[in-house]
Amino acid sequence: MREQMVAEQIEARGVKDPRVLAAMRDVPRHLFVPEAEREAAYDDRPLPIGHDQTISQPYIVALMTELARPSPTDRALEIGTGSGYQAAVLGKLVAEVYTIEIIDELGRDASRRLEKLGYGNIHTRIGDGYGGWPEQAPFDLIVVTAAPDRIPPALIAQLKSGGRLVIPVGAYYGAQELQLVRKDEAGRTRVEDVAPVRFVPLRRRDGK
Ligand code: SAH
Repeated sequence: MREQMVAEQIEARGVKDPRVLAAMRDVPRHLFVPEAEREAAYDDRPLPIGHDQTISQPYIVALMTELARPSPTDRALEIGTGSGYQAAVLGKLVAEVYTIEIIDELGRDASRRLEKLGYGNIHTRIGDGYGGWPEQAPFDLIVVTAAPDRIPPALIAQLKSGGRLVIPVGAYYGAQELQLVRKDEAGRTRVEDVAPVRFVPLRRRDGK
């Protein structure tokens, strides 16, 4: 089913990076969704993971991963651990993954799941990812899987020169745009619109 998912949902829509395709074939997505959703794990859509949150559609995970241009020596940051699936895909492709989840129960479950599946290079933290993970910065790539209404400045600051930030930006369930932010060697950033998307909102711990 994973082979078919990659061929029909991901390659067919233009994702080409062979390492990304291999990671999508490799990570057992059905082990990242709740029991009740297991049969739908390889469907072409997002799925509920509890707490009103979702695991993204496989194609969107692949697209965001390709846009981040992961390489084996990279250090990656993810905001919005959720099930841990996107972190697991990144974990196959980079040296270290740091991932932050704001909902305690989701963060704890993901951490346990990733440990059980043997992803020793994924480091989890529970908290508000709006401020990034300063102790582990800077990062070669940052993937944000919940949408803020504008790009959090701390994430730009924690991106290395040459680094890539992939992030959905826009109002809650309104028009969000997946954006690719690139920082050049001089530290200047360029923002590119990639595709309209629909993500859950990036929450703030202080309620803002
Ligand atoms: N990447 C996940 C999908 C996550 S859905 C996966 O592969 O399963 C988005 C997640 O972002 C939710 O779990 C939500 O609780 C979390 N989130 C929302 N706001 C956040 C914040 N400020 N900091 C960290 N996580 C946040």
